[in-house]
Amino acid sequence: MCVFCQIAAGDIPSKKVYEDEQICAFYDVNPQAPVHILVIPREHIASVDAVTKENSGIVARIFETIPSIAQKAGLSGGYRVITNCGADACQSVPHLHFHILGGRQLSDAMA
Ligand code: AMP
Repeated sequence: MCVFCQIAAGDIPSKKVYEDEQICAFYDVNPQAPVHILVIPREHIASVDAVTKENSGIVARIFETIPSIAQKAGLSGGYRVITNCGADACQSVPHLHFHILGGRQLSDAMA
């Protein structure tokens, strides 16, 4: 099982901010901003490259849920949502995840 599947299952501890039957959100262990949350599907999907017509509904569910997670985390000034896909983007965990970053003025450099 991958590390995020284990977090979703509760086998690896994490500081969860939201969870339901399909989605889990928890604080990143190595934060890149004052608020850094990861949102994942419970279902193992390796990356954006593995999103299909059959499984893309979970991506919509995640984006429907992100605003309330951001609000709960106090990100009233705005936030950035990022997903890294593959080696060139430095994806380090092969389980689809969306970073929510905020809590300060973020750089306008995207890469
Ligand atoms: P990425 O580099 O886009 O694949 O992002 C993976 C993220 O997962 C990194 O920001 C890591 O700090 C984070 N991460 C890895 N293991 C854990 C963990 N056990 N708990 C929380 N965050 C983690």
